[in-house]
Amino acid sequence: MRYTRYFLPVLKETPAEAQIVSHRLMLRAGMVRQATSGIYSWLPLGLKVLRRIEQIVHEEQQAMGAVPLLMPTIQSADLWRESGRYDDYGQEMLRIKDRHDRDMLYGPTNEELITDIFRASASSYRDVPRILYHIQWKFRDEMRPRFGVMRGREFLMKDGYSFDIDKAGAIHAYNKHMVAYIRTFERMGLKAVPMKADTGPIGGDHSHEFLILADTGESEVFLDRAVVDLSLGDRRIDWDDRAAVQALVDQWTGPYARTDETHDPAAFEAAVPEGRRESRRGIEIGHIFYFGTKYSEPMGATVSGPDGKPATLHMGSYGIGVSRLVGALIEANHDEQGVIWPESVTPFHAGIVNLKQGDPEADAACETLYETLTAAGLEPFYDDRDERAGAKFATMDLIGLPWRVTVGPRGLKNGVVELTSRRTGESEELSPEAAAAKLRAIYGR
Ligand code: ATP
Ligand code: MG
Repeated sequence: MRYTRYFLPVLKETPAEAQIVSHRLMLRAGMVRQATSGIYSWLPLGLKVLRRIEQIVHEEQQAMGAVPLLMPTIQSADLWRESGRYDDYGQEMLRIKDRHDRDMLYGPTNEELITDIFRASASSYRDVPRILYHIQWKFRDEMRPRFGVMRGREFLMKDGYSFDIDKAGAIHAYNKHMVAYIRTFERMGLKAVPMKADTGPIGGDHSHEFLILADTGESEVFLDRAVVDLSLGDRRIDWDDRAAVQALVDQWTGPYARTDETHDPAAFEAAVPEGRRESRRGIEIGHIFYFGTKYSEPMGATVSGPDGKPATLHMGSYGIGVSRLVGALIEANHDEQGVIWPESVTPFHAGIVNLKQGDPEADAACETLYETLTAAGLEPFYDDRDERAGAKFATMDLIGLPWRVTVGPRGLKNGVVELTSRRTGESEELSPEAAAAKLRAIYGR
């Protein structure tokens, strides 16, 4: 992409309404624009990051065996009356009437709709286990929308649902999600910690929230430092091996890690040596929940078991805050100058800065580099404006591409361009060919 053909409405001033750094930077870098309270338009740069996050989520969901589908945003109130949640949900639910005066709603979540879909076609124990998921917009009329996309009213969520014949099967689905989530967040360069969450009337140990540690987080968290040092890496996982998946879950849920909702100070002190005790703030980016027959029972979602008797399905639901992740990633990756994207989610792979637009040699070198990178399947962002170098550098630093190639007549005389890491600030001089080769190697293209 060339700057002069793109739509990148960067702001010079720091918007006064933004209280936290990710919100400020998303507005300044022209990633989003507020349409109305808690509702945002995703401008081109923000949309690219959102799509890259979605892509990682899709890949990891499907690697674990979940099947994608797409449910609508608008639902009929009837299903919610069946489950009993229509009256319980409260003011967060946006209730709408259609022209026939029928009660509709903008879905805040989809347990009812997916249960209805599944019960309509699953009839036998052979139709389970299944995991279905989608990535779709949700609406929750939050009392206090704030922090930009972190607590919006309209937001993008990955929500998945598992169906099993019995509790043991459902717990395996739950465990698979925990491990898949750890991998998903690791791929984004985030250390997300599963923390024991409230299960409410369902009871049991099978609800975890995933939080990343950040000073601006809304939750207070207490954890054993040991959990932060765990890493899944790229080890192969046999998703059908219940014991192996359970062992990973045990490893991650062994160390103490809780939010203030479930925190027990005495247990914390007893379980964690003083030097490893941390009390921090965190951002919730995911939530997994086993809830048994809470919806399948009132909605009559049963299949016939191997013995021919009807069995009520055991279910779980699993959410990832896809749009919140854009903000959370910036909270975890920025400096004074702007965003520092991890390579796995960056909107463009590298920036090209032409120090002297209009200089035939510099222009030609930039064009060649642009074409070489594009041909290799990378997306460069070429600042081809007739602007001073300082302004171009400031914009590149603000939008946070992990790598910048600086091309100017002086370097070209010696046959070199400069390759700079956004994260470390370190630069090296290379031939344009070597710079392209290095970027290809970094991104494995
Ligand atoms: P919170 O406690 O932050 O209000 P929640 O527990 O109500 O969230 P869930 O129902 O667990 O949210 O939704 C799954 C995920 O969707 C959350 O982990 C979070 O990442 C994301 N999410 C929830 N509410 C919002 C929101 N208002 N704006 C952006 N993302 C959200
Ligand atoms: Mg939650």
